[in-house]
Amino acid sequence: MGTGDSRLEELARSNSDLDRKVFDLQALLKAGEALYDVLKIAPLCDLLMAMCRERARVNKLAVLVQDDEVDPPVLRVRATHGLPEEASEIIAPATDGILRRLLLAGEPFSIIDPAGRPRFPYIFDEHGLETLEGQLWIPLVMPDRLVGFLSVGLDIDGRPISADDQAFLSALCSQAAVAINTANLYEGIEVARRRQARSFHQLEILFDVSKKLGEVSNLQEMLSIILGKAIGAVEAEKGSLMLVDEGSDELVIRVVEGLPPKVQKKINEGEIKPRRFKRGEGVAGSVWENGVIQRVNNIEADGDFTAREDTYARSLLCVPLIADDEVIGVINITNRKNNQPFVDADESILRALADQAAGAITKARLYQDAITDGLTGLCIRRFAMHRLREEVKRAQRYDKALSVIMCDIDHFKVVNDTYGHPIGDAVIVGCAQSILKSCRQGIDVAGRYGGEEFLIVLPETDLEGGRIAAERLRQLFAGIETPLDDGGVLKKTMSFGVTVFGPGDTAESLVKRADEALYASKEGGRNCVHAFAADQLSDLPLVVDEDLAVDTTGEFQADPEPPVKGEADAA
Ligand code: GH3
Ligand code: MG
Ligand code: MG
Repeated sequence: MGTGDSRLEELARSNSDLDRKVFDLQALLKAGEALYDVLKIAPLCDLLMAMCRERARVNKLAVLVQDDEVDPPVLRVRATHGLPEEASEIIAPATDGILRRLLLAGEPFSIIDPAGRPRFPYIFDEHGLETLEGQLWIPLVMPDRLVGFLSVGLDIDGRPISADDQAFLSALCSQAAVAINTANLYEGIEVARRRQARSFHQLEILFDVSKKLGEVSNLQEMLSIILGKAIGAVEAEKGSLMLVDEGSDELVIRVVEGLPPKVQKKINEGEIKPRRFKRGEGVAGSVWENGVIQRVNNIEADGDFTAREDTYARSLLCVPLIADDEVIGVINITNRKNNQPFVDADESILRALADQAAGAITKARLYQDAITDGLTGLCIRRFAMHRLREEVKRAQRYDKALSVIMCDIDHFKVVNDTYGHPIGDAVIVGCAQSILKSCRQGIDVAGRYGGEEFLIVLPETDLEGGRIAAERLRQLFAGIETPLDDGGVLKKTMSFGVTVFGPGDTAESLVKRADEALYASKEGGRNCVHAFAADQLSDLPLVVDEDLAVDTTGEFQADPEPPVKGEADAA
């Protein structure tokens, strides 16, 4: 009976062994399914640890995963259980010879010698690995590839885990290795995708900038576009663009963005005198001096930062605008949104953007110079005609009003003859300033048509509007005093011809008709305004349109030549 009993016992034991193995296999199967459902490393590691704790009742666990993003690769703690916070910061060498060979072999191994000391004291000391409080390391490996390892501490009774549990954990870890490896690859793809999206976004910004810059030739508009794009590219709150003023050799703010709208408008339209920086002064001045981009992420701590620059700045990125090896200006970008610091990627996108911008600014300046009359700052005749042609097209296409003024200084020859050319020039400059003052900025076009003859294009303005504008200018200029060498002043007057766009008109026919109206004003006694309607045929004998030219209220009546000191040109 004894033998029978022992055989029964043996059978029961092997049955329970079998049960246990079946149970383990089922648990592993389930674990495998669960593990494959998770595609992120951190939750995967947490799941692995939860499974280990359920089976082996261990208190101290850590999962380290190989990070290939750095060179050389390292093993980083990705999840811990029952360990102090600093354990999460632990980084183990992934390339160290002995440990790596042990890990790649795939079998669990004890890291504690029989005396209870680490078996690899040198590596443990150097990397603080004791913090993990491990007894046993179970490798997470794929064929030929180390994924990481699981560091297992004592169980809840303070004993090393049993051989059975070790085997189970090891099997679990080989499944987890595959899942973590997949998640690692997946996260790597995500990172690469994000990086690619970012560089694509940056390329898009650069492409967009170059396209926009190609479309505008107006320098001020161009500067606004550049600054806006720069602020947008690095997601900042505000900024300014400064150009070197060659006359004073100072950096002058030319455009700002992100300030209260009223202040911003005043600065951008030149109403507020902008700040100026000397070479080497503050961050912007030193970027000008050195031609090197500067990044300040903690302005309070940076002694170089002058309080004058910006009192509400937390962080600053200052980029030189370099054209032909010369710094022509500086873009200042202030405060990354959400209190974020500026990073390397921000510098590189701004550097690329500044390169494009500097080239475009130089071209725009050359163009601006080419279309600007040197004496008056008004545009040259050819450009004024070009703009008039554009406005004629617009008037035609959209059925908009468009009026044109031609004006000429009265008895100007005599100024040159009496006071000399420089005084003549000064009168012309005073005239141009009156014209600029009476024009709508960014809408009207004012050009120097000849020596002391000017063309003004007034979009969306009818004949009456044009006449009123001319009359306003006539009065304004008549009040202008040009200082003379002897301390006296010279006052001059102008005559005006106005007309309006009509069917079939071209830029040339408009100018011709305005010129005829001007001639009528000269004939009619000068210092007055004549306005010719669109249907007034220009090849008819010249008739002064009294109804339009002279206001019956007397308001627009031609004044007699005002008495002027040193009068030499009285008609
Ligand atoms: P009117 O009232 O009929 O216009 O008489 P006017 O003397 O002004 O005659 P006109 O308009 O023909 O005079 C043009 C003169 O302007 C001729 C030229 O000597 C002078 N002029 C042209 N360009 C300049 C310039 O850039 N500077 C100076 N100082 N004089 C100029
Ligand atoms: Mg004249
Ligand atoms: Mg003239």
